[in-house]
Amino acid sequence: MPLNENAKSVPAAKPAANGRNGRKIWLSHTGLGGLDRCPRCFWLQYRQGIYQPEGIVSRLANRFDVLVKHYFDRFRGTDELPPIVAGHVEGRLESPFQEEYFYRVDDQYGFKGKLDECLVRADGTYTPVDHKTSSSDPRIERAMYASYQEQLDAYAFLLESNGKPTSGIGHLIYYYPDSTEDLHNGVQMAVVVKTLKTDPLSVLPRIKRGITVLEQPIPDPSPECVFCIWRERVGNFIPAKL
Ligand code: SF4
Repeated sequence: MPLNENAKSVPAAKPAANGRNGRKIWLSHTGLGGLDRCPRCFWLQYRQGIYQPEGIVSRLANRFDVLVKHYFDRFRGTDELPPIVAGHVEGRLESPFQEEYFYRVDDQYGFKGKLDECLVRADGTYTPVDHKTSSSDPRIERAMYASYQEQLDAYAFLLESNGKPTSGIGHLIYYYPDSTEDLHNGVQMAVVVKTLKTDPLSVLPRIKRGITVLEQPIPDPSPECVFCIWRERVGNFIPAKL
């Protein structure tokens, strides 16, 4: 099936919720990542709206994301690229920028995603971009997280399925606070662009795998997960009334 066949019924507005209750379930790249970790947690999230507790999380990266996006916006609508990435990426910033995309699977399920940035090349193809605040030096070569590859694949899939042909690549732009003797002059950021080939065709099978799990009864807990083991043990000490 052509990727854009199902994008015609894309909702104009953001869908209301992920819960079933007669409403469509909108899967996402992040949600499908949960399926890889534990199908039971994935099922609880989408079928019951029960999420794992978040714990204590730093919001510093969110703030940095906002600053970076504002900076990129200064160059939108021009032929100029932000100097921190010029020479490392091809094209111009998409203008106007479409952040959110939806793909309708059927009446019950869809897939959605939100891009950080998108480049448009002279040949009319689109390149998805994701900003990554990094706590380790991206200039040192390490194995790429599989989820980063899947994220760019998901964006390429959403672009293609919404009638935007992709360039076959995506960029991860890493921002890393560099060491400096002159901290009084501000924090220096090392900016590193990594380019990955994208595979939009890999995404639909992942979506279908997620739907298969959601259409079945709740899966067993992951045997490696310490939380469910803890809950089971603690449950032995909690009176039935509670
Ligand atoms: S085993 Fe239990 S707590 Fe752990 S991830 Fe799965 S459902 Fe969640």
